[in-house]
Amino acid sequence: MNFRGLEFHGKSFWFHDKVEYALDLIRDYDMNAFILHESDFMTDFIYPSGILDPYAPWDGAPVRRGENALQNNIYYFKDLLKRASRKNVDVWLNIKELTFPDEILGVRKDLMNDGVYCPTHPFWTEMLRAKYKDLCNWYPEIKGIIVSAGSPEGKTTLSQRKCKCQRCLETNITDWYLMILKPIYEELSSKGMKLAVREFSYTKDHQDAITSAIDQMPPDVIYCIKITAHDFYPTFPDNSLIETINSRPKWIEYDTMGQYYGWGLVPCPMFNDIEERFAGSINNNVDGAVLSVEWERVNNWNSIYNPNRINLYLTAMGAVGKRISPKEAVINWLEEEKIIYSSQDLALLVDYFLDCWNIIKGALYINDFVLADSSMIPMSIERAWWSMADKHSLAEWFPHRKTDLEMDESKAAAYIKEKKDSLEKIQYWKTRIDSTLSFSWVVDFLRKTVFITERYVDLHYHYGKVAILAGLIEQSTEKNIKLSKNITTEFNEAIQELEDFAKMIEQWLQVSDLPHQVYLLFNPERCGFWVKGAREKYLKLIQA
Ligand SMILES: [Zn+2]
Repeated sequence: MNFRGLEFHGKSFWFHDKVEYALDLIRDYDMNAFILHESDFMTDFIYPSGILDPYAPWDGAPVRRGENALQNNIYYFKDLLKRASRKNVDVWLNIKELTFPDEILGVRKDLMNDGVYCPTHPFWTEMLRAKYKDLCNWYPEIKGIIVSAGSPEGKTTLSQRKCKCQRCLETNITDWYLMILKPIYEELSSKGMKLAVREFSYTKDHQDAITSAIDQMPPDVIYCIKITAHDFYPTFPDNSLIETINSRPKWIEYDTMGQYYGWGLVPCPMFNDIEERFAGSINNNVDGAVLSVEWERVNNWNSIYNPNRINLYLTAMGAVGKRISPKEAVINWLEEEKIIYSSQDLALLVDYFLDCWNIIKGALYINDFVLADSSMIPMSIERAWWSMADKHSLAEWFPHRKTDLEMDESKAAAYIKEKKDSLEKIQYWKTRIDSTLSFSWVVDFLRKTVFITERYVDLHYHYGKVAILAGLIEQSTEKNIKLSKNITTEFNEAIQELEDFAKMIEQWLQVSDLPHQVYLLFNPERCGFWVKGAREKYLKLIQA
C-alpha cells in the first residue's frame, strides 16, 4: 500500500512530546503519514475568516469566543506541520461535516427550524467554501483531508431527518452528500490538496447513498473504507466495499486501540484478524491504510503506550505486505519496551496473547452480535438489545443473521455457554500464572493483566447472562410462549450474582489506585441500573 498513516483520534496531538514520538514511530514502522482525527477539529484553528472576520473590532464580545485560544491553536498547528515536514511525514486531517462554530448563528439567524439546524440550508455551501479556503491558504503544507460527509457525529445531518422543512423533505441523501463534497473538493483541488471520503454508514441504505455520491465525484477522490461495515467490530466480515469499489483509489481503516475489543486495558493482539484482513485488502488492490491508535471518547489513552501497540506494528507491516508471526510481533514489542526475557517468558506470553481474542470475543459479543457498548457494560438491558438489533446491527449487513436474535431456551443456553467458556478460559490462565514460580517482568506483567482481564470477563459473563435471559423472557412474553420453570430461578440467581459482583468491583475500585479508564471500563454504577431494570421489568414479566 502506498499510503500508510498513523492516526491520532483524540487529544494526543495537542502534546509536543506525543507528536514527536508518533512522528518517530511512523518512520520506525515504515509509515509515511500522520492523520489528525477529531470531529470538530477544524473549528479549533479556523474561523472561517470569510464569514467571521478575525480582525473585526469587538462589539461586546469577540467574533469567535476564546479568540486567544484560537490564535494559540493556529500557531501550534503550524508548528506541528513544520515538525512533520522535517521528518518527511505528510499530514492529513480526518474530520466530520457538517461542523461549524456556534458563533455562526450570530451571523445567520435562519439556520435553524424548530430548534434544529437545517442540514440543506444553502448557506452551508458558502461556509464550506470559506472553511476550506482558509485551510488551503493558512496551512498549505497539509497533504489532504479525509472527510465523513453527513456524519451523525457532525452538528447536523440529513440522515436523521430531524428538520421538517420542505427543502429537507424534498432532498435525497445522495444529492445532499454531493452538496457537501463538491465545494470541499473544489477548494482543495484548486490548491493541490487531496480529498478522501470516508465511508462511515450506520445502515446499508446510507452506504449505498454515499457510494452513489462518490461515484459522481472526480476519479482522484479516494474512498476510505472501514475494515468492517459501520464500525470496527472484529466479529463482522470484511466491509464488502473493499471488494466492490474498483473505479478509484481505496484505503482501509483499522482501529489498533480496540474500541470494540477491550481498549488494551485488557490487552488483545489481533494476530489472525490483521493478517487475514490485510492480505485480503492487498489482494483487492487497496492502496492505503489508516491505522488509528486512540478513540476520541477516552482521554489520555493510546495504543502506542500499551500492549495493543502490537496491533499497530502488525497493521503497519501488513500494509507493506509483510507477514509477521505472533512470536516475531511479541519479540518486537518486548524489545521496544527494553524488557529482559527468557525463552520460557516469551513462550508463555505468546501463548497468552494468542488466546486473548477468543476470550474477549466471547465476553463482549453474543454469537458475533455487538452486546457490549464500546467494550463497556451497556447503559441498560434495553440499550444492549437495541445495540445488537439496531445500532450496531450485524443483521443490517447480513440479513440471514437476523433470526439469531430470535430467542428460545436452547439459544439462550448456547449464548450463556459462550460467555461461560470465555470465563473458563481466563480462569485457566489465572490458575496457570498464579502457579508460575517466577518473578520475571513478563510473569509479573501477566499476573496483573490476567487479574484485571479475569474480572473484566467475569463482569461481561454476569450482565451478559442477565441480558440473554431478559431477551428470552421479553420475546417469549410477546409471543405468548411459556418458559420452563427453571428459567425464573436461573434469572433470579443471575440478577443476584450480578448485584453481588458489582458490589465486589465497587469495593475493589475504591481501594485501588488504577487510572480512570479502568473505572470507566468496569463502571459498577451501570450494573446497578441493570439489577434495578431486571427486577422491575423483566422479572415481573416472567412472574405475571
Ligand atoms: Zn431543513
